[in-house]
Amino acid sequence: MIEPVYTPSADRYENGMEYRRCGRSGIRLPLISLGLWHNFGSHQSMQNVKAMAHFAFDKGICHFDLANNYGPEYGTAEENFGRLMKESFAPYRDELFISTKAGHDMWPGMYGEWGSRKYLMASLDQSLRRMGLDYVDIFYSHRYDPDTPLEETLQALVDIVRQGKALYVGISKYPPEAARFAFRYLSQQHVPCLLFQGRYNIIDRHDETGGVLDLCQENGSGYIAFSPLQQGLLTNRYLDGIPEGSRMSENKFLKPEVLTPKMMEILRMLNDMARRRGQSFAQMSLSWLLQNPKVSSVIIGASSIGQIQDNLLALHASPFDEEERSAIDNISRPVWI
Ligand code: NDP
Repeated sequence: MIEPVYTPSADRYENGMEYRRCGRSGIRLPLISLGLWHNFGSHQSMQNVKAMAHFAFDKGICHFDLANNYGPEYGTAEENFGRLMKESFAPYRDELFISTKAGHDMWPGMYGEWGSRKYLMASLDQSLRRMGLDYVDIFYSHRYDPDTPLEETLQALVDIVRQGKALYVGISKYPPEAARFAFRYLSQQHVPCLLFQGRYNIIDRHDETGGVLDLCQENGSGYIAFSPLQQGLLTNRYLDGIPEGSRMSENKFLKPEVLTPKMMEILRMLNDMARRRGQSFAQMSLSWLLQNPKVSSVIIGASSIGQIQDNLLALHASPFDEEERSAIDNISRPVWI
């Protein structure tokens, strides 16, 4: 049977999505972006991969976040995204903002991780081949490498832009001093950093308390938050145990040990507060981030269309008043990372 050709929703930009400018740049991103770290690799059904990506684009989510090793297996989220490009999104390439990254473990030997020029250049070439793209919109150094001269990593990013393989560059999870150096180096080369990608949510505030958010503002870089739901912890997913098939049930990136009695008490209190605000817990966690103008966008993960649908309602949340903000701070402070 021939599958019908995908036609995106005609009102995808009038569906309630909002767009926010990234630092000092010409780029506006959807407030909610979709990440393909989990649930988009070769272990997943292509039907669900397609359904979630189509649904997201239909709702105005035009930013998809990838990395070389997203899967599992490594590389397969990019391969599946390449299939989506070919079968669905090719006519809409100029409406999409696609990222990839290199920095973590990808292939064996001396040149398959960290921050060398050799690794970054080879990895991006592989990513482009897997996704069937001529260029990505943004290429990130995925993590700070303390053993490679930062100039080498950053100059590779600059040269990647000069080669036309990425339009913009970004850095992820850099410590504040390294980020400061990177912002300066890149702007001196006239390839300013478009985005800092960091983990930020109600219980992980190290980029806020450590000054990264302010540093981004001072340097004209956007800030995009990953794991805004702390991988599902800041939702109703684990309030009544560990569901089969959930990320925690895999016991890899999200471990059951985090569900201490203290954590459970805090999650229940936050969930009660969300209910009082007339929101799901996930929606409250996202709207808490989105109401901070220093955040350019949040990158959600999802395993179903229903989760994306739930999360999109965060865009229509009522603003937090001072009392609610300090209540969230007080409830969550004992588990701040
Ligand atoms: P989240 O914190 O949004 O967690 C996503 C998970 O939460 C989903 O897979 C799902 O879990 C659960 N979930 C989502 N929505 C709901 C809902 N409404 N109700 C209940 N449960 C829900 O983000 P991720 O940790 O997945 O990270 C998002 C993206 O950020 C990644 O895909 C990647 O692109 C990027 N990232 C970047 C990193 C970096 O180093 N730069 C590191 C990590 C992520 P379940 O699967 O169990 O259903």
